[in-house]
Amino acid sequence: MSQVLDDQSRVEKSIDAYARSKLTALDPMGLRRSLIETDRTDAIEVMRGGRRLISFCCNDYLSLSHHPDVERAAQDAIEKFGTGAGASRLVTGNYSLLGELEAKLAALKGTEACLVFGCGYLANIGTIPALVGAEDLIVLDELSHACMHAGARLTSARIETFPHNDLSAAHAILKRMRDSHPRCLLLTETIFSMDGDRAPLQALGLLARDFDAWLMTDDAHGLGVVPHENSDADIQMGTLSKGAGSYGGYVCASRAVIDLLINRARSFIYSTGLPPASAAAALEALTIMERDPEMCARPLALARAFTRKLGLPEAQSAIVPVILGDAEHALAASHALEQDGFLVIAIRPPTVPFGTARLRFTFTAGHSEADVARLAAAVAKL
Ligand SMILES: *Cc1c(COP(=O)(O)O)cnc(C)c1O
Repeated sequence: MSQVLDDQSRVEKSIDAYARSKLTALDPMGLRRSLIETDRTDAIEVMRGGRRLISFCCNDYLSLSHHPDVERAAQDAIEKFGTGAGASRLVTGNYSLLGELEAKLAALKGTEACLVFGCGYLANIGTIPALVGAEDLIVLDELSHACMHAGARLTSARIETFPHNDLSAAHAILKRMRDSHPRCLLLTETIFSMDGDRAPLQALGLLARDFDAWLMTDDAHGLGVVPHENSDADIQMGTLSKGAGSYGGYVCASRAVIDLLINRARSFIYSTGLPPASAAAALEALTIMERDPEMCARPLALARAFTRKLGLPEAQSAIVPVILGDAEHALAASHALEQDGFLVIAIRPPTVPFGTARLRFTFTAGHSEADVARLAAAVAKL
């Protein structure tokens, strides 16, 4: 027996050999990722490797994660409801703040009802399979977020992607395939997370109507930043983890659709409710957004100041990509900006398509005009 154990400790376990070989394959392309400790000391500054940097890569667009009222709301909720929901919402995890939060989100999006999930990823991978199955068709923009693709793959429906924002390609797919599938879900993002551009929502709404497809939009990067278009979408999904400065996901839709999700969305049914502090923080953040439209307008205004200074196409959201091509080039540019005191992460495949590695800049309400001007000067040097 001890002989066998000795042999095992000398020979690398097959699982570790496998992991190491997969990781080694990533190295030559500059695609290996690792975690770097980063403390966000306020909404704008981070401490990394003992250095203080100004972050231009957080999705905390309105800097609400460090807002004193939002922090206090979270603390009060912990005192009143504890640190965890304790169970799935269908068991005992459905504390009263969640209903308040859902009512507020439904009113904001102009829908009958809303359902809050543990996070945006869970909302997408739960909602999509609750609505379509093996006989059905899913048509999605190729640049849709990984969790929309993941949700689609959980369905065993026929999945067709169309080139980014290409309406005529989406139309052609629907024309060719819609009739032979009983139900069809059309998926896109309102603001594309890695490109910062917008989907043609009105035209997609018309397309969905013409083909009786159900339009589902992911507004992760729109909430509080890009004024809400009164959307024709049947399902408006989003996250509380970005502009709302908290954590959690939501789906706004008709009462019937939400009731179906409560009964069929597995990531809702079999996962613990959102923690009270997150729900309270999000609720307070939504209240602040409502009363402070000037704050909400700042990220886009600063992004536009940046694109103007550098002669880039005008920003359509708080996200501005600068595409550099290969991963090594993007990493080098990110390191150079770090030397100048700015944190801007290089985004590499498979998050973005091969050959489109980039710096992804995000602008937030807490940045000053001077911060943006200094950043633009540092980027111009590159
Ligand atoms: C971040 C993101 C999500 C996931 O939201 P989380 O709440 O962080 O899980 C979903 N969709 C898009 C487009 C995103 O950018």
